[in-house]
Amino acid sequence: MQHQDDNASFANTACSICGMEAEDGFHAVMTCTKARYLRDCIRKKWNLPPEHELQMSGSDWVLVLLNKVNVDTRVLLLFLWWRAWHLKNDIIFGKGDASVESSAHFLFNYVDSLGSLNQRCIRTVSNSKAPVVPAPVVPSCDPAPKCVSRWKPPPMGFVKLNVDASFIPDNLLAAWGAVLRDSNGDVLGSAWNFIDHCPSAETGEVIACLEGLKNACTWTSLPLILECDCASVVEAINCNGPVRSSIYEVIALLKELLLPAPGISCQKVDREANGAADCIARQAVKELSGGVLRDSVPSCAMCQLAQLLNSFWTPWFAFRVPWNNCVGS
Ligand SMILES: [Zn+2]
Repeated sequence: MQHQDDNASFANTACSICGMEAEDGFHAVMTCTKARYLRDCIRKKWNLPPEHELQMSGSDWVLVLLNKVNVDTRVLLLFLWWRAWHLKNDIIFGKGDASVESSAHFLFNYVDSLGSLNQRCIRTVSNSKAPVVPAPVVPSCDPAPKCVSRWKPPPMGFVKLNVDASFIPDNLLAAWGAVLRDSNGDVLGSAWNFIDHCPSAETGEVIACLEGLKNACTWTSLPLILECDCASVVEAINCNGPVRSSIYEVIALLKELLLPAPGISCQKVDREANGAADCIARQAVKELSGGVLRDSVPSCAMCQLAQLLNSFWTPWFAFRVPWNNCVGS
């Protein structure tokens, strides 16, 4: 009887992905199927502690582990766990098709991109002859913070699509950029392209909304919040009456796309909080390029995502990640 009770209580707490262990933070980011495989892939490039040192030590396992390793390894472990948590969320709340190898490449690129932003050095491989690359030091908080708004994640169960356009009036060239993120701040996809013969900045912004939405609808079926930093475009999208002629046609197309999807709403966002989409659009107009990335953003927008890590972290950390303490000493 006791045996049956034990079985029943394990079934209630067992991981819904692998069913092998009780579901807790340690299992989610360290021992569940994709978390283990991600660590294997990451070891090919990063010098992580040996497996026997990565053990569960009780409820404070995160702090105990971070306390045992050096400053550089701490940063790598935090990035590793962040991405393992994304893989778990993708299985439970998403389509479950995020690849572990892509996640490893995402982390390698992410850390390399951040590394180029600062001078601090970190050795990511054990070979002493290996190249030393700059560490991913997240920009520290301004001691006297200015009134700069930051990107805010959507509520649980929603996704947020940020779009922006970059316009060069001299030659009527423009480009749009779009980033789709979930309530954990995880990127579900990004897309960008240039616009030939764009008559105005405003038209570029509407095209950014339209093209961003077209892509986003292929990545998610969750209710979506569209964010754009152009007030007149947001007003035109939300307006039920007639729209000014210069952007009428694109707005009409956009509404055709929006109408069958009642879960889509549109709101104005401050320019500062729309940084990732802005970076992508500016890069696209500079290179006259187009592209789509699942689960990631181009390297030009990586720093925008990194700044969020300071203020926003996944819920399994019961504490704020002490970035400045970790990387500054
Ligand atoms: Zn599991």
